[in-house]
Amino acid sequence: TLDFHPTGRHFLSIPGPSPVPDRILRAMSLPTIDHRGPEFAVLGKRVLSGIQQVFRTRQPVVIYPGSGTGAWEAALCNVLSPGDAVLMYETGQFAALWHKMAVRLGLKTEVLGLPGAENWRRGVQADLIEKRLRADTQHEIKAVCVVHNETSTGVTSDIQAVRRAIDACKHPALLLVDTISGLGSAEYQHDAWGVDVSISGSQKGLMLPPGLGFNALSARAIEASKTARMPKAYWAWDEMVEMNKTGYFPTTPNTNLLYGLAEACDMLLQQDGGLDAVWARHQRWAEGVRTAVRAWGLEIQCADPAVYSPVLTGVVTPEGVDADKVRQVIWERFDLSLGTGLGKVKGRMFRIGHLGDCNDLTLMAALSGSEMGLKLAGVKLASSGVQAAMEYFAGHPATAVLKK
Ligand code: PLP
Repeated sequence: TLDFHPTGRHFLSIPGPSPVPDRILRAMSLPTIDHRGPEFAVLGKRVLSGIQQVFRTRQPVVIYPGSGTGAWEAALCNVLSPGDAVLMYETGQFAALWHKMAVRLGLKTEVLGLPGAENWRRGVQADLIEKRLRADTQHEIKAVCVVHNETSTGVTSDIQAVRRAIDACKHPALLLVDTISGLGSAEYQHDAWGVDVSISGSQKGLMLPPGLGFNALSARAIEASKTARMPKAYWAWDEMVEMNKTGYFPTTPNTNLLYGLAEACDMLLQQDGGLDAVWARHQRWAEGVRTAVRAWGLEIQCADPAVYSPVLTGVVTPEGVDADKVRQVIWERFDLSLGTGLGKVKGRMFRIGHLGDCNDLTLMAALSGSEMGLKLAGVKLASSGVQAAMEYFAGHPATAVLKK
């Protein structure tokens, strides 16, 4: 039943939706205002400017009432034409789903990746992209699509390396990046990294409920959208970008989510150290959680420490232990939600989210629940991950990370 959680807060430790801070909940509780009235323009301009800073861009950012999936579709259909060739890279389940969407939209897709299970354990190999683009002497490939933070595995990808790969062969393909679970948690720089369309959503690092999708644009992406022929109406950028100049939206915006977004941007941008502090904080949390996993003697899904996700950690359960059964015990006994394994790693791993409105002690709760649940599920642990994480957090003050 809905009143299952009798006391205390539920521990929402999935990698998004992430917990919504009280400050944002309160901001969203204000009465909905007239979206054509004068007050709205103030809010509209404020959120549009705030979200640009979060994406680290001076280009327009389009805000849709919609989920991340909608923002994926918006990115593809604004810059491409039916039958266009698109180069994608499968790092995990979300990259695979984006590919499935591209196929449904009638694009000619090609998927790169490493062979076998390794592919879901490492980030994008930019050299594979470069090799493929070099062979495309006729420039048939119109876009390269990659996922910045693969939420299904806890692996990030080096977006700058992908940009360099495209530039190295002077290929005109646009670079489209899904940073749905990266933005606001893992370092991301839309302009400096030369991304053409960045895609995001509200329910992860932005600490908002689900319901907003984002496209950050580049001048080249806007140019491409003027001649692209994929059918688009609701997702079309042109009217949105034009009307946003005055702080208004062509259709009814999610006013209350925008109150929350204004607050979220303030929280991310106005603290000491700004976004750099936010990124460093997530790296530290991630290392604390990984310290626990190593102490348990369990494997981390990401096999390349250079691209460990600061947002979530995929914990592989020992052979023969169903990770979803472990999650179920933890949920029933300790009121803690952990992320399920998705796609081909279902039952083989669970995911601990360490993003957004966390702190050392909420993460200690997630680790304690996990450790108790693993033991109850009969998993033999090498040592206490909780003890190891406590030592890590106590021994590594957040300020030290910031000063690095
Ligand atoms: N891409 C990534 C990396 C995601 O993590 C998600 C959702 O978790 C999506 C795409 C899909 O977004 P949504 O579920 O908001 O449609």
